Amino acid sequence: MIFTGQDHASAVSGDISKRTRWLKLASLVLPIILLIFMVSALELAIKGNLSQLRNQQLQQLGKDIADISRLLDQELNASIYLVNGLQAYVESKSGNLVAGEIAPWLTNLQARGRHIRNIGIAPDNRITYMFPLAGNEKALGLYYPDNPKQWPDVEKVIQTRKAILAGPLSLEQGGQGLIYRSPVFIEDDHYWGIISVVINADTLFQRLLAEADEHNLALTIVDLDSGKTVLSSKITSAAIDARQILYVPGHRWEVTGTVTPLPMNSTLIGLRLGGWFVALLTVMLLARFLRSVKAHAQTLLALRENQERFARMFTTSPQGLALLDDEIQWIEINPSLCNLLGYSRQDFNELRLIDLFAPEAQAKTLAQMEEVRSTYQAITDHSRQFEAQLLRADGQLLTGFITLGICYRSNDETHWLLQVLDISERTRLDQLKNEFVSIVSHELRTPLTAIMGSLKLMASGKLEQSGAANEKILQIAVQNSDKLARLINDLLDMDKLIAGKTEFDSTPQALLPLVEKALEANQSYAQQYQVSYRLQSPAEQIHVAVDAMRLQQVLTNLLSNAAKFSPPLSEILISFSLEPASVKVQIQDQGSGIAHEEQHKLFKKFSQIDSSSTRQKGGSGLGLAISKELIERMGGNIGVSSSPGNGSCFYFSLPRIHIGATDQSRT
Ligand code: ADP
Repeated sequence: MIFTGQDHASAVSGDISKRTRWLKLASLVLPIILLIFMVSALELAIKGNLSQLRNQQLQQLGKDIADISRLLDQELNASIYLVNGLQAYVESKSGNLVAGEIAPWLTNLQARGRHIRNIGIAPDNRITYMFPLAGNEKALGLYYPDNPKQWPDVEKVIQTRKAILAGPLSLEQGGQGLIYRSPVFIEDDHYWGIISVVINADTLFQRLLAEADEHNLALTIVDLDSGKTVLSSKITSAAIDARQILYVPGHRWEVTGTVTPLPMNSTLIGLRLGGWFVALLTVMLLARFLRSVKAHAQTLLALRENQERFARMFTTSPQGLALLDDEIQWIEINPSLCNLLGYSRQDFNELRLIDLFAPEAQAKTLAQMEEVRSTYQAITDHSRQFEAQLLRADGQLLTGFITLGICYRSNDETHWLLQVLDISERTRLDQLKNEFVSIVSHELRTPLTAIMGSLKLMASGKLEQSGAANEKILQIAVQNSDKLARLINDLLDMDKLIAGKTEFDSTPQALLPLVEKALEANQSYAQQYQVSYRLQSPAEQIHVAVDAMRLQQVLTNLLSNAAKFSPPLSEILISFSLEPASVKVQIQDQGSGIAHEEQHKLFKKFSQIDSSSTRQKGGSGLGLAISKELIERMGGNIGVSSSPGNGSCFYFSLPRIHIGATDQSRT
């Protein structure tokens, strides 16, 4: 089966179209999601790597800053410990210092302290000894309480009894210095004085900065107690730092090392670029794949819709259609073909294509198929059209307009399409039209020829002597004019009836007088055919509601036909059959009668039974059709009962009406 059920097909295409919509959405969204996902994963990996690098950098920085703090501690202590030694010396001497003795000692101390600029000894707060003296002369003799700049620090040292490192501060001798002051107490806890060391901050800090430089870090030292910056090198904005607290006498110093974060190394840059490239490539490939899947689904949908359209067309076509394979086996048959031929779909399984045709049309059909098959390659028109008789399941013949051809051919498949159009009615109408033309032309020409002949004879002037001859010729002209007028009237009546333009003036009236009047009017016509009418009146008065003129027309037609088709000297009987609700008027002749199978044609337009014999009698074949229309419009019906050799009885029946006694007496 090529065509699946229509509902199923619609459901399938519904599924496909839903899938196509999803695919359209997916082809937009999925690549974006994938891109976001891949890039996020990549950036996370890079970030992880970078933070690992930073950690390593931070660890290193921590070590470096510890080294530098240690160095600072060592450098400071190297000077401070010397002072401590001096303090012990003063204490051991109970403060009684001898200049000559102390001078070489202090000179030696100063030389050993790496950053010592000078050492001062201030018994009772006055600097009495200064080493080296050169360059520090100004300080000699300085009495701390008189120096407002230094006294607060000195006072604090005395009060707290602890050594304090002050500075850095600008030295009067120039440069920066750190001053370490230590109070000296001798026996009985007696304050003796101050020993101070000025440490060269410039060299000390240079040493530190050189070390920091070596480790590529910026160095900052802040005095946490005073909040002052002890040392600061330039720091970049984006920086990571490590710090350490260093305890110097009297203060906490925070040593901070700062480094610029390591930039991404080339491996990471390569990884990022490569990752982005791979992500974009993957996304493009996915988008492309989804697009192709979507395109595939759309093609499938279009194909399915096409198939559905074709299937719908095939099944609903009013034309009989069938699809056959190369073996001329049925693939599909549409309902119209089944209806046309009266077979069910199952019946076709038992039938060959050729069985559909009437025996005389079979050879022609096979020949047409062979021609299509043999010329298939050469021509573009792969079908043949012809008229043929088809055999219905009930044995009746129908005339079909057949189109038979190859509708599809591939390497291993061929499909034939059979199209059948029932043209029986058209053929019948064509035949009727031809008959009508020949009848009308014959019926027009015959009386016209007679009229023309009569008129020409009279015009020739040869008939002047005999009045009787003149009269005869005139009669012929008049009779034929009547015939002509009747034919033309019939045609016009039929036309009016078909168009529904005929007006009826139906009034209740007695039937018998109408019949009598018609008999009277047709008397002379009957005489022409040497027949007589005999009226068998009904036992009672009968009333009908009719248009008198139209009923006259019907009666005239039936009476004249009876006269026309009766043998000379025969009698035509007009009788009535009464029913409570209707009355039947019968006109029985003794003509040759009409075969049963011909009778159905009688009341159709332009139909005559045996055209040749009827034509001898004249007539258009319209009279009975008009009569049928008229009677039916008046609420009755018309018919015939006849058999060959037993004459014909044409009848019509009309509804009766029962009217009061007063009315009856008037009629
Ligand atoms: P027409 O004008 O040809 O008579 P009708 O419609 O009246 O047209 O009649 C149609 C045909 O019916 C006639 O041609 C004739 O063949 C047949 N017919 C009508 N009446 C009779 C009859 N009484 N006896 C036999 N045949 C008749």
